[in-house]
Amino acid sequence: MTSFATHRQRVHDTDRSARARHAALRTCVVSFAPYGFRATYHHLCHSAGIPSDPEADPDSLVRAVEELDAARRLWRADEAAHGERRVREKALGRRAVVPDGGWRDQPGPWLAFCPDPEFHPAEPLPVVVARVLASFVPPGPDAEVCRVCGGAGGTTRWRDGHLVNRLCARCGVRIRADGAEAAPAVAAAREKRWKEIWSAKGGREPGAPPLPELPPRAPPPERPATPRPRCELPKRNRGRRSDQKADKRKKLVHITTDKEKIRAK
Ligand SMILES: [Zn+2]
Repeated sequence: MTSFATHRQRVHDTDRSARARHAALRTCVVSFAPYGFRATYHHLCHSAGIPSDPEADPDSLVRAVEELDAARRLWRADEAAHGERRVREKALGRRAVVPDGGWRDQPGPWLAFCPDPEFHPAEPLPVVVARVLASFVPPGPDAEVCRVCGGAGGTTRWRDGHLVNRLCARCGVRIRADGAEAAPAVAAAREKRWKEIWSAKGGREPGAPPLPELPPRAPPPERPATPRPRCELPKRNRGRRSDQKADKRKKLVHITTDKEKIRAK
């Protein structure tokens, strides 16, 4: 079972403390973060309404992990299809990956990286992820567009103290990094703000409009008992292993015998 599946089960586990379940949710976000860890976490805190004290509403943790899981299942299906396609291409001798306009043409491992934790798409994660997975941007100089909203609103700059980022002005997705810079004061201010977000859990404002309901999902399956692995060595090798053990025992007998001889002298 993957780390994500294990920790998703822990988020559901009502025998655990809300703090432990919150830590499990954090591990799930580490495992799958379409906007990067900080912005994805901030989004889930708002969409699921996680309060600053998760003990006050432990079910919010379940809502958050289910939204994340629904998006992750879409991504995993896309990864599986991509893997099968690559096998077929390699069989035809096409070993190099050719840009095809899909989201994998982007730099970095993220689907839609949002460097500013508080500026990211507001729609449910499965909706955004599905849109990015289905996006097509022809390779070339015009490929720097937002795959989430089309980028019709232009771009804005956002500095994190290390990079100058060019973000989609409508949804916060990074279009490109404009350059590097060393600005310790900016970096310190960003870190301070992140700590505030982390400790506040990004709870929703009172009176905020209700968020769209996610499709119902069955509870996670019980973890199956892990069968003890059987010895898969062929009989020939098993015999060889027995011979090696026998040789080792013989050596020990010789050593013991030699020691006894020395004592006898
Ligand atoms: Zn956008």
